[in-house]
Amino acid sequence: MIFVTHQRELNHMASDLSILPFALYSQKNIFMNTPDTLELRKERVNERPYEKFVFSFLEGDGKNKQLLGGKGANLCEMSQIGLNVPPGFVVSTEACLKYLGDPSHSLPAGVLAQVKEHMQKVEQATGKIFGDFQNPLLVSVRSGSALSMPGMMDTILNLGLNQKTLKALVAQTNNERFCYDAYRRFIQLFGKVALGVPDEKFDKIFEDVKYKAGVKLDIGLSTENLKEISDRFLDAVKQHTGKPFPEDVFEQLEIAIKAVFNSWMGKRAIDYRREFSITPQMANGTAVNIVAMVFGNMDNDSATGVAFTRDPGTGENLLFGEYLVNAQGEDVVAGIRTPKPVSQLQQEMPGLYQQLEGLRDKLERHYEEVQDFEFTIEKGVLYCLQTRNGKMNATAMVRTSVEMAREGLITKQQGLLRLKPEMLEQLLHPRLDSLHKTVPLAQGLPASPGAASGECVFDADRAELLGHSGHKVILVREETKPEDIHGFFASQGILTSRGGKTSHAAVVARGMGKPCIAGAEGIHVDVKLRQAVIGEKILHEGDFITIDGGTGYVYQGVIPTVEPTFSDELKTLLQWADEVAQIKVMANADTPDAARKALAYGAMGIGLCRTERMFNAPDRLPIVVEMILANTEEERSVALNQLLPIQRQDFRDILTTMAPRPVTIRLLDPPIHEFLPTEDELRDELTHLRHLKDTANGVNDLFNTLRLLHAHDENTKAVTPFNDKGIELIDQAIVKKEQMLRKVRELYEVNPMLGHRGVRLGLTYPEIYKMQIQAILEAAADCQEVNIDVRPEIMVPQVCNAEELIRVKGYVEEIRENIEKERKLNLNFKFGTMIEVVRACVTADELAKEAEFFSFGTNDLTQATFSFSREDAENKFLPLYAEKNILHDNPFEILDTNGVGKLMRFAVESGRQSNPALKIGICGEHGGQPDSIRFCHDLGLTYVSCSGPRVPIARLAAAQARLGAAKKSSL
Ligand code: ADP
Ligand code: MG
Ligand code: MG
Repeated sequence: MIFVTHQRELNHMASDLSILPFALYSQKNIFMNTPDTLELRKERVNERPYEKFVFSFLEGDGKNKQLLGGKGANLCEMSQIGLNVPPGFVVSTEACLKYLGDPSHSLPAGVLAQVKEHMQKVEQATGKIFGDFQNPLLVSVRSGSALSMPGMMDTILNLGLNQKTLKALVAQTNNERFCYDAYRRFIQLFGKVALGVPDEKFDKIFEDVKYKAGVKLDIGLSTENLKEISDRFLDAVKQHTGKPFPEDVFEQLEIAIKAVFNSWMGKRAIDYRREFSITPQMANGTAVNIVAMVFGNMDNDSATGVAFTRDPGTGENLLFGEYLVNAQGEDVVAGIRTPKPVSQLQQEMPGLYQQLEGLRDKLERHYEEVQDFEFTIEKGVLYCLQTRNGKMNATAMVRTSVEMAREGLITKQQGLLRLKPEMLEQLLHPRLDSLHKTVPLAQGLPASPGAASGECVFDADRAELLGHSGHKVILVREETKPEDIHGFFASQGILTSRGGKTSHAAVVARGMGKPCIAGAEGIHVDVKLRQAVIGEKILHEGDFITIDGGTGYVYQGVIPTVEPTFSDELKTLLQWADEVAQIKVMANADTPDAARKALAYGAMGIGLCRTERMFNAPDRLPIVVEMILANTEEERSVALNQLLPIQRQDFRDILTTMAPRPVTIRLLDPPIHEFLPTEDELRDELTHLRHLKDTANGVNDLFNTLRLLHAHDENTKAVTPFNDKGIELIDQAIVKKEQMLRKVRELYEVNPMLGHRGVRLGLTYPEIYKMQIQAILEAAADCQEVNIDVRPEIMVPQVCNAEELIRVKGYVEEIRENIEKERKLNLNFKFGTMIEVVRACVTADELAKEAEFFSFGTNDLTQATFSFSREDAENKFLPLYAEKNILHDNPFEILDTNGVGKLMRFAVESGRQSNPALKIGICGEHGGQPDSIRFCHDLGLTYVSCSGPRVPIARLAAAQARLGAAKKSSL
């Protein structure tokens, strides 16, 4: 057993050799050139049969992204459905995790032997030999984890080149320039990625040679130039590492595989995973893909490109992409040359364009999803090098969902399930006011839509620094690289002067839903001077600019933005969602204006109308203050009589706007001292007023004296800066403020949120609730009289005990009777309660006998269940709890299904048991949060209610909850 791998290898080779006589010489060569690495020796003493770590593209399971990574799984899948993928294989993420977990940093036993075995298969398939002196095989070594992380880990191209194979390649291709171009790329990538040589060292040499040769574009470099670059690159590597560049091809391969594995724990990758909350369950380790090289840089009949099967900015159904003739790999993405739109390929290489269209079609049909793919054309042959689901902005996601469903490519349900509800938030982002007259400073490619204003910054570190200290910044760069990612997070938008719509900047910005303009060629950035030059203009760090990622225009200064409107596609998609969803989506809206907006967002009613918000309007507050200051019931009723018509009018407006949809109106909830200034404020005001009175008296004294002195002077006689009336006004103000101060002291509570508020207030001052009930029912009567079908629902806050409800219900019944008798009609309304204290959940069966509906106020209920006060929790300890994983999520943002959720479930079950017709909803902030909506759906709630702008998100989440539940139950 000891030599099992070795023996298998030999057998395998023997069979290969017989098939491929040509390989004979080279195979020997491999043996001679491959020193026994430490790993190989270790493998030989390992007695276990090895785990399978390596999978050829023809055998790997295209669905197993956890094991093979997204890139690897798709390469397997594409190979197996007959697309033209260069031969290759995948080293699994399991190998990566084992390697990273091994303290001695060696590859797990078996990996290298399996890699060699699979290299032979690639050799068979290509007819080339790795490390051969005549017909050398070159490969790329590419990373790829279960989730696509654009640009997060590095790829090495042209591996397998050394002094000897380079000569062979020259002899073989008769194209010295191409060979040295490939060589210098390899040295640079390998040097940077695998050996850790800083990029700047290579850049400096590269720019130096370009400068000396007087060429601007890479393509202008001659063979001699490229030779010089290669030589100097090799020197740079030697200088930096103290060792010559590795000549042995298997050593190169081994180093490269380890480097890719190591990149999983690199800073960039870790930052990215943290920012996007990528857990090990979602992606754990990276696979390595080893792929036979194909060359887009062979000549002018070769090219390389990146494309989307549909436009990722708009969703339009057309091949969208960019390519470069005679270029390799990263050239398109790196923004080194500005690529051409793929439509141009139609003229340049019409046959290949047709093939590309065919590829697009096959990819979409197979994956039933928009694909983002990479292709290379080598001497007129098209290869597909990668595909993945296209990252699109929300506009494009919505449009493609609707269009692909209409085309029959996917079902409506798939269309609803493929976009995350939160994405819709992007569509609610502002755009530039079309009426602005500002002349643009520059124009680039509209790479990611949306508009943003901010201060210019010219490098990612500054962007992060300023962004974190509260500045709104726009990151302005010549081009961006993966290491700039932290600057993206901190910026409002991104502007680059180079690169196309598939450049790094564009892809990442689109993924984040941030506006981006790429390839704005008129802009020259000077990072050292912290400025950019656009024609005659110089922009300094801190100068404000506005970018419009929808048009590509850059403006100086801040341009006002306007609210977006719903597209037809979005309307259609949300209509499909409403058809599917079971749980209804209501909005929280307190004013007639907010109700109209909520309706436009598609709210099916109002789940929470907070009457106290109406009290805060400037014309009402003084009356509310009078009501609070009143010491007797009579005094109070004077104020209440003034408030009644105002509230009635508001309710009439809201009910009419929403008719025939339900409107749940909550009776006064907050402690009333919230309508008064604080004690400190009042004390300051009083001090100020008393000073004012002293001053007024003093000035009057002064003028009286002056008048006596100049009794004959007519001018002085006329001047009386403060008459008695003025002083009287000041006195009145002082009396009022003193009265308020006394009241504030009287109303002082140690813990107001647990104090005299909600129904407690309503029972101690019944006239307040009665006025509100009167206003609601009169408004309903007014509407009913003119045949408007309104559905008010009166909701009592803070209830903990059925007796409270019974009392308030008593007021309601009395008022209802009066109005019905007087107006001769039957009022159509509901009476119900908030469920927001723990005791309400526990006694839900009793409450349900008095209530027609429950509405979970999960903000208060969460506070009550945890005994956390929200502000204190969020400011003081929740961040630490999250960081240390003591509490996974902030329970005020994501419903705590294990705790609060259990109370809710109990309340729902016992409530419905005693009153089967009970309608139940939720009106906390959680009502707009997709995970919480799913939970509410599962609980069987009737509706969720959330803020207006979140209504579209909630509608989609409601549909997904239903579809998800349907899927589960059909299993
Ligand atoms: P990323 O994950 O950053 O997209 P890739 O592994 O896709 O990195 O590789 C980067 C670039 O190198 C791509 O543009 C791809 O087309 C090119 N490339 C990778 N492998 C090969 C290959 N075998 N032949 C030619 N080009 C390749
Ligand atoms: Mg890359
Ligand atoms: Mg790629």
